[in-house]
Amino acid sequence: MTDAIVVGGGIIGLTAAVRLREAGLDVEVWSPGGPARTVSVVSAAVWYPSYTDYSPSVQRWALTAYDEFTRQQAAGVPGLALRPTRNVAMPTGDLWWAPPGLSVTGPSSAEFVAPLAEMAVYLPWLEEQVRVVRRSVSSLDDALAAAPLVVNASGLAARTLVPDDAVFPARGQIVLVRNPGLTESVRTPGAYVHPRSSDVVLGGTFEPGSWDLTPSAEVTDGILARTAALVPAVAGLEVLGSRVGLRPCRRGGPRVEREGRVIHAYGHGGAGMTLSWGCAAEVVRLAESQTPSPPTTV
Ligand SMILES: Cc1cc2nc3c(=O)[nH]c(=O)nc-3n(C[C@H](O)[C@H](O)[C@H](O)COP(=O)(O)OP(=O)(O)OC[C@H]3O[C@@H](n4cnc5c(N)ncnc54)[C@H](O)[C@@H]3O)c2cc1C
Repeated sequence: MTDAIVVGGGIIGLTAAVRLREAGLDVEVWSPGGPARTVSVVSAAVWYPSYTDYSPSVQRWALTAYDEFTRQQAAGVPGLALRPTRNVAMPTGDLWWAPPGLSVTGPSSAEFVAPLAEMAVYLPWLEEQVRVVRRSVSSLDDALAAAPLVVNASGLAARTLVPDDAVFPARGQIVLVRNPGLTESVRTPGAYVHPRSSDVVLGGTFEPGSWDLTPSAEVTDGILARTAALVPAVAGLEVLGSRVGLRPCRRGGPRVEREGRVIHAYGHGGAGMTLSWGCAAEVVRLAESQTPSPPTTV
């Protein structure tokens, strides 16, 4: 019998499902379109708590995920890399998120090593470890009728499924260029350069309230100009395409909280990869915090 259904197969749902399975639960993930139809797959997926405010929970989730990605990379998990990273012209006064080994190199610069996940490879690797059903819900009740425990990892869709009007999109456009051999990640306010195995993610925008999924040529030109100013080596590289994703933001920060038989895990904004494994551990803790009663049949 299915002990828990995870609604959503992005980075938050899949990592939660993996941890719940490891905790001994029989878990099913409901993911209508698979990894290719998630925001997570668009993500640059570099460890860093972008647009995320400090709280003790957020700090714990981020550092837990940092350790887990580092461990997995050493174990040879596909799609993961560790990147030397430079933050340029960014405040260094309150580095609550600082990972082990970070060094402050100037009044507004820091260097550290950041895990990076190539989501087109990493999400399918996660999916292989759990049972996945390609279906959607029109209400969380659909899942509650099929299992005693439901994890709501529906990202932006939580806005209507919960409903939670604190959830809103922040449009992000990125540009992919061919990687000639770059390995260093660099970010500054308004621009970032994240090399992957064969391409480089150039970013990016953060447009709260926009639901527009169509890449804009004008925005692409702006990203190319800003990133070339930051890292001259990316100027003139072959452009492979532009992508848009809608970050599932939430006023007040991510919601990882139990409400009866539902554990909510949504609203991770610009930091879903960064917080993922820490939130997954929290989901397990919440799952073990009460024994759910079995579903009632009518
Ligand atoms: C351009 C860009 C760059 C980013 N860069 C980074 C970065 O470098 N580092 C970082 O940590 N984060 C980054 N992010 C943020 C990150 O992508 C998100 O925080 C993360 O993907 C959210 O994951 P999620 O699983 O909550 O949502 P999603 O990936 O959107 O997954 C939601 C899941 O719910 C499912 N779903 C929705 N509705 C229903 C329904 N009715 N029934 C069943 N299932 C449903 C969807 O199909 C999907 O499987 C970036 C985002 C963007 C757009």
